[in-house]
Amino acid sequence: MNKETKTYRKGEIPGIIAINTRECKGCDACKRFCPTGAITGMFGATHRVDADLCISCGQCLVNCPFGAPYETVDPVEQVAAKLADKRTTVVGIIAPAVRVAIGEPFGMPVGSLVTGKMYSAMKKAGFVILDNNFAADLTIMEEGTEFIQRARHALFGEKAEHGGEIGPLPQFTSCCPAWVRFVETNYPALIPNLSSAKSPQQMAGAVAKTYGAAQVFKAAPESVYTVGIMPCTAKKFEASRPEFQSAWHFMKEKGGAASSAPYPDIDAVLTTRDLARLLKKMKINLAAENDAEGGTLFAEYTGAGTIFGNTGGVMEAALRTAYVVLTGTPLARLEFEAVRGLKGVKSADVTLRDQKYGKDVTVKVAVVHDIRANIRPIVEEVMAGRSPYHFIEVMNCPGGCINGGGQPICDTGSSWIGRVLPSFAWS
Ligand code: SF4
Ligand code: SF4
Repeated sequence: MNKETKTYRKGEIPGIIAINTRECKGCDACKRFCPTGAITGMFGATHRVDADLCISCGQCLVNCPFGAPYETVDPVEQVAAKLADKRTTVVGIIAPAVRVAIGEPFGMPVGSLVTGKMYSAMKKAGFVILDNNFAADLTIMEEGTEFIQRARHALFGEKAEHGGEIGPLPQFTSCCPAWVRFVETNYPALIPNLSSAKSPQQMAGAVAKTYGAAQVFKAAPESVYTVGIMPCTAKKFEASRPEFQSAWHFMKEKGGAASSAPYPDIDAVLTTRDLARLLKKMKINLAAENDAEGGTLFAEYTGAGTIFGNTGGVMEAALRTAYVVLTGTPLARLEFEAVRGLKGVKSADVTLRDQKYGKDVTVKVAVVHDIRANIRPIVEEVMAGRSPYHFIEVMNCPGGCINGGGQPICDTGSSWIGRVLPSFAWS
């Protein structure tokens, strides 16, 4: 455990967000957005963050009208130094939600999709591209397959292929690190319900330093430096978790060229804001770039990987996988519209024919975003054994990662999502 805190392990960053006491006016705005009550301080007095309660989501940061919350970790200089070191392969792992936000700091209209310009700007800076949509596809294969295994175990008593443990239902998604920490610190009894699949960022890091190093980059894993480019401040915390050194463990077991010191799967995380600062520091104007291709196998992906950035995206992608695996036939129409939109909790019943058992299976799914407003009744139901659901997607941030704590900050300092909600009849 970290000395000053009770809920962090050795090596973990003990909270990404702190409040600058010189800037804080004690207006209480941040408290209204905090999902965990981690912010203390009387109205009018300086506020502070209780790191043990904090899940590093950054919602206080993007919603403070005075810019008082800040990130305790800023890797921009370190990444710039690695980019300048020609012996290092610097892999930029780009999350889905970054490409519709990174245009903003370069004067482009809000919501501009700039995938090709971002590839070009990052390649000019010296990055090799690993689009995290590629890793989101890997995640969904894992998470979807795990769900089918849990469902068949619960419904038909099917055992694990190699005699291992099978987790309980409902299965929760595990790609939001703020949500994972929320479960660990608030509802530890539900840890077995979290999917055992790593997040796309962590899968990408492990793949980059194993298969990627050997087959794509032709470099020693120790000389591959992986940078998550994320809409999310909690991803900085996630990367510091001690269990995420799987490439090092793998190489060691294989007797490969593993260094004696363990290395992390992800070396650094830049938020969308950090990437804009890095590119500006390198005098690269993303808006002026022409579209480029990613240029590696790791820039290939499906539409399922792309939708991970929105609330409902992981569930929709998982349902597509479950459909194909259970029924043995491809989906005629890819959309599952019931899990789309900005309603706080969305649910759907999906009936599929399990070809292996020759029976119809009705899967009850729920999609929850904005933990602060929506999660407690859902988890209390699960704790009481009354949940009707089999699979539940949870994203901390309102709207999902698209509105993450690492995204560009609106001029007003207040979240855009409250303003757009009334425009959507289906929300
Ligand atoms: S980062 Fe999130 S959990 Fe932490 S204090 Fe800010 S709003 Fe609360
Ligand atoms: S919803 Fe997305 S951006 Fe927000 S904390 Fe979770 S992973 Fe990060």
